[in-house]
Amino acid sequence: MTRTTQVVVIGGGQAGLAAGYHLRRRGLTFVILDSQADPGGAWQHTWDSLHLFSPASYSSLPGWLMPPQSGEEYPDAAHVVTYLRDYEKRYGLDVRRPVRVLGVHRDASQLLRVETDSGTWHTQAVISATGTWQRPFLPAVPGRESFGGRQLHTVEYRRPQDFAGRRVIVVGGGNSGAQIAADLAYNTHLTWVTQRPPRFLADDIDGRVLFDVASARRRALDEGRTDTGGVASLGDIVAVPPVRQARERGLLKTVPMFTRLVPGGVEWADGTRAEADAIIWCTGFRPALSHLAPLQLRGRRGHIGTAGTRAVDEPRLHLLGYGDWTGPASATLIGVGRPARDAAREIAALLGV
Ligand SMILES: Cc1cc2nc3c(=O)[nH]c(=O)nc-3n(C[C@H](O)[C@H](O)[C@H](O)COP(=O)(O)OP(=O)(O)OC[C@H]3O[C@@H](n4cnc5c(N)ncnc54)[C@H](O)[C@@H]3O)c2cc1C
Repeated sequence: MTRTTQVVVIGGGQAGLAAGYHLRRRGLTFVILDSQADPGGAWQHTWDSLHLFSPASYSSLPGWLMPPQSGEEYPDAAHVVTYLRDYEKRYGLDVRRPVRVLGVHRDASQLLRVETDSGTWHTQAVISATGTWQRPFLPAVPGRESFGGRQLHTVEYRRPQDFAGRRVIVVGGGNSGAQIAADLAYNTHLTWVTQRPPRFLADDIDGRVLFDVASARRRALDEGRTDTGGVASLGDIVAVPPVRQARERGLLKTVPMFTRLVPGGVEWADGTRAEADAIIWCTGFRPALSHLAPLQLRGRRGHIGTAGTRAVDEPRLHLLGYGDWTGPASATLIGVGRPARDAAREIAALLGV
């Protein structure tokens, strides 16, 4: 079946919904195609104990504040899923599920052709908002195949009970690594491995402060003032309560990165070894962009060039929510609203609406 609409939004997580909110306000016709069976984007799949690093009111999409979660200053992931489900209902957003976009193509008709696993859409513009969760990153480490235990990425980790009493190595000095290490610190034999000593943010810095710092940096850059350095200058790890507690009990010690995997565990350059039953790679994500490959937009360094959210070499395409290269703080709940508004405004101008 072939259908036509002014805008196709690919991805129905928070970024896709924020785009839908602003497209709707501008009176554009659009459809949101999401490969998941249920609302909530990546928040449906995180580990059980994950809580936001900001209070509800600082974790809101445009138009409607996230309601607070009873008894929790920092809502959990299930609360975010409920909020996103209610958000799309509240604004009557047309989200089609499960629909996976296979490729976006230029078409002889001047329209973009969006091929999916359930039909084709022709459209004047595309907003790609597919996130990063579906593209976990694993570093190349020698001996990976030889390890006899279990290896998993952040995306597969659920709860510490699955590893009770086991020897677990957590790799990664970011927020996921710290939080999963804290989760496992009480009932496993934990080794936390980081490339450099972990940089914890001060205990009173949460997502609110980070958002304010990111906003101040954006204002400074917009006004041609000196770069304030932004959030990266403050540290890498938000000291959320479980991380703080485990650290205060002395359970979050780190060791430097090993050089290779061996059948029974890992080995450092000096030949020291640590035995392990499982290795959890908390080593980050990459943008899920394979559906854009037919447009051939990647530059020499593998990036799609953007001006704001717009693809430099394809003005009918916007990228939303992947990280700072598509708008400051755009990969956060509170930060995606502004780039979503800008994308909708630019598309309306392009279409002459
Ligand atoms: C562990 C962790 C903790 C975080 N904590 C916070 C926090 O406390 N506060 C905060 O603001 N942010 C936080 N973030 C960052 C960010 O808010 C989340 O990553 C968020 O899920 C990103 O939303 P998104 O809409 O960009 O992507 P996603 O939530 O991943 O949604 C993308 C959607 O697109 C769909 N999709 C992908 N490919 C296709 C395709 N080809 N066709 C159709 N659909 C497709 C996916 O199935 C998914 O439903 C955290 C991130 C992580 C990883």
